[in-house]
Amino acid sequence: MTALLLFGDQLGPHFHAGHSGEILLVESAAALRRKPYHRQKLHLVLSGIRHLAAELGDRATLVRAGTYAEAIRDFGRPVVAHQPGSLAAEGLLRRLGVEVLPTPAFALGREEFTEWAGDRTTFLMEDFYRDQRRRFGVLVDGGDPVGGRWNHDVENREPPPRSPRLGVPEPWWPREDDVDAAVRADLDALDLPTTGVDGPRWFAITRQEALAALDVFVRDRLPHFGPHEDAVLRRDPTMAHSLLSVPLNHGLLHPLEVVRAAERAYHAGDAPLASVEGFVRQVLGWREYVWHLYWHLGPEYRARNEFGATAPLPDWWRALRPGGVRAACVRTALEGVRDHGWVHHIQRLMVLGNHALQRGYDPAALDDWFTTSFVDGFPWVMPVNVVGMSQHADGGVIATKPYLSGGAYLNRMTDHCGDCWFDPRKRTGDRACPFTAGYWAWLDRHAPRLRGNHRMSRPLQGLQRLDDLDEVRAREPHRDVF
Ligand SMILES: Cc1cc2nc3c(=O)[nH]c(=O)nc-3n(C[C@H](O)[C@H](O)[C@H](O)COP(=O)(O)OP(=O)(O)OC[C@H]3O[C@@H](n4cnc5c(N)ncnc54)[C@H](O)[C@@H]3O)c2cc1C
Ligand code: SF4
Repeated sequence: MTALLLFGDQLGPHFHAGHSGEILLVESAAALRRKPYHRQKLHLVLSGIRHLAAELGDRATLVRAGTYAEAIRDFGRPVVAHQPGSLAAEGLLRRLGVEVLPTPAFALGREEFTEWAGDRTTFLMEDFYRDQRRRFGVLVDGGDPVGGRWNHDVENREPPPRSPRLGVPEPWWPREDDVDAAVRADLDALDLPTTGVDGPRWFAITRQEALAALDVFVRDRLPHFGPHEDAVLRRDPTMAHSLLSVPLNHGLLHPLEVVRAAERAYHAGDAPLASVEGFVRQVLGWREYVWHLYWHLGPEYRARNEFGATAPLPDWWRALRPGGVRAACVRTALEGVRDHGWVHHIQRLMVLGNHALQRGYDPAALDDWFTTSFVDGFPWVMPVNVVGMSQHADGGVIATKPYLSGGAYLNRMTDHCGDCWFDPRKRTGDRACPFTAGYWAWLDRHAPRLRGNHRMSRPLQGLQRLDDLDEVRAREPHRDVF
């Protein structure tokens, strides 16, 4: 009988419950060694696979092999698989003659997305998201949004509170077991080229853990999710975020069950609409949109480089060594990546992505770096988030303007600047904030290309009014975060 091959990001019951035959799980030595992955990312992958193998008992065969190809060939029996999470893995399956079934991982199927996309050449998430809400009947009443509005973003852009912590209940934290101990020992013995530090597991990696993490989030933290969604607090790295990207991306939770749980909390009067809508937008909107565009836009999209950015990633960035970085916002974000392989959305977009954009880091290299350094990083999630959203290297296929900001924005939305050696108000002089100077220098460098974009006309007018632009330009080669 045909066996079902499950990859490490296909661990939940919606992948295997419908298959009555054998399940094949593979630990590929080559895959572990292929790139300098974050140590905690490798731990999660192995822990997830081994926990599932133990759960499935006799139904599962766990093969340790040099490569996936060897494992499948030596297995010797016919194998099918669900659509995997990368073009490379899909190509491999096809080369090996493995039948590829549709994936149950997302609410919307590939054909429905292709129909939705039609002959569009630009893709607005807001349009997609509203159609998703209507199609799946989430927070809608007779085709209209409950509460009268589709979008509650304006209520979800509060700056951080004055206190060092948001003061919301703790997220669910896992308790490691014997499987984790064995994974840790194996990873130590393998001596892989990892980055980041090892540490207690932060994320759910079994189905039972994922359900517990979802319950705790919806009960305790969802009510607070929205207002400070865009803010950053140095001493409160998780704020009211869900920490569900790992169990979602490992296929342990289905996005619709997550969205329905949030919706129920709203209808029960346990969470305000703005927070629930903000969360539903992330899972049913952004996440699905990013997945489908990965396949729809194809491999060329990842190579887009609208601004001709070719700077290599510096060693301290690649190796996650923030010691010596004086820019408090960059140091804190990189420390979070080093220690946990995770920081929240605004640190990814407005600190790390913004820094990379202003420094002109090569977008494809940055895409690789995010994929290997983050515990929730997978090839499908990166191109739209990194090449598109954070670097605008697609020239506007998915966003109408670059997510670029200076120190004033970061000073308003984070509590970093008070403790920083730099001054967010200064664009010249010794203490010039690298983001404030970098913002104007970037606009100046790319002004000819940005002129056609009406959303950039105000920043460009501001640029023309600068009386010290020559000095900003002169200092640009020396601008740094050290
Ligand atoms: C440059 C950059 C890199 C990113 N890299 C990743 C990544 O490697 N993996 C990843 O899952 N997300 C990524 N994101 C999206 C987002 O930052 C993370 O999903 C989120 O921070 C994970 O933490 P959380 O589970 O607490 O999310 P929450 O803030 O609680 O959000 C809820 C869920 O929404 C989903 N979500 C929200 N935004 C996005 C998005 N833009 N794309 C996909 N899913 C989204 C995630 O599944 C997340 O768990 C990236 C965003 C940017 C700008
Ligand atoms: S002053 Fe500039 S570099 Fe320092 S924390 Fe603020 S934005 Fe970051």
